Amino acid sequence: METLYFSGMHQLMRPLLGGIGIILTLHHVRPARPDAFQPNRLLEITPEFLEELLCQIKRMQLDVISLDEMHRRFITGEFNRRFVCLTFDDGYKDLTRWACPLLRKYEMPFAVYIATSFPDRLGELWWLALEAVIARNSRIGALIDDKEQFFACGTASEKREVYDAFYDYLRRMKTEDELRVVVRDLCARYHVDIASFCQELCMDWQEIVELAADPLATIGAHTVNHKILKKVPDDAGVRAEMAMSRAVLEAALGKRPDHLAYPVGDVTSAGPREFRIAAELGFKTAVTTRPGVLFKVHRDHLTALPRISVNGEFQQQRYLKVLMSGAATAMWNGFRRVNAA
Ligand SMILES: [Zn+2]
Repeated sequence: METLYFSGMHQLMRPLLGGIGIILTLHHVRPARPDAFQPNRLLEITPEFLEELLCQIKRMQLDVISLDEMHRRFITGEFNRRFVCLTFDDGYKDLTRWACPLLRKYEMPFAVYIATSFPDRLGELWWLALEAVIARNSRIGALIDDKEQFFACGTASEKREVYDAFYDYLRRMKTEDELRVVVRDLCARYHVDIASFCQELCMDWQEIVELAADPLATIGAHTVNHKILKKVPDDAGVRAEMAMSRAVLEAALGKRPDHLAYPVGDVTSAGPREFRIAAELGFKTAVTTRPGVLFKVHRDHLTALPRISVNGEFQQQRYLKVLMSGAATAMWNGFRRVNAA
């Protein structure tokens, strides 16, 4: 990123690779915390940084549009103005507290993808539970490959190492159920209440209903249980996760969501099977977290859209220009425009 920025390459590549628009991915928006161990920091930005981002979008004279309007532009082929869609995953309470006032101030539409088990208070935010287990202990034991193994995690750097190792280990498990069993076991051993994260951090139904009443807001589906769908063995299971979350949101809000975000959403979490099922279920659009800008050809891949993650590890103004130019993502994609395999 540094090299790309300072070489001025992004300016050079912009007209060529900038595409027709971008969808930005955001999660938490809240003031920075001082803790040294914050392995999930990439998922949060400060309100100040969000405001800088919104100002940057304004300065670049990009249209900020809703997902419905993006869909309409794809269908009608109206691409004369470059656009941005702002999307927030998971539906955290900090969105209403910190982001909404700014989005309203700048009158920018946005979308929020809700995993319905979160407001139902049945969700397991396992990545945060894992963080809590490691943060609160200086040594942890776990049954790995049927063997009891111990890990020292006294210092911030040890904690980070142990977190990364566990995270990789969990993400490599064959099914989401196995992953959840390991995290539940860790939570039970170290007295971390896995349900508490949902309760404390995620919007409840009342808050979602109020948010949905804002004409700037679009509520999208994000499955029921926030499972890594590629790890769900049968098609019926994937279909049920998508269809059920849409039905539950429709019942709560009186409006059927037309848009979907795949949980986690990277190449190991959603693939051709998921893209096909989302299309069969009639979602107008579905977004991944595969990095990329949008091109006209994405019209033929509306349930496999790339996004650009606004990463909390890079909260500096100068990164925004690089991100938005499409230069960085073009490099990640090896200059392939559509990545839907
Ligand atoms: Zn999510």
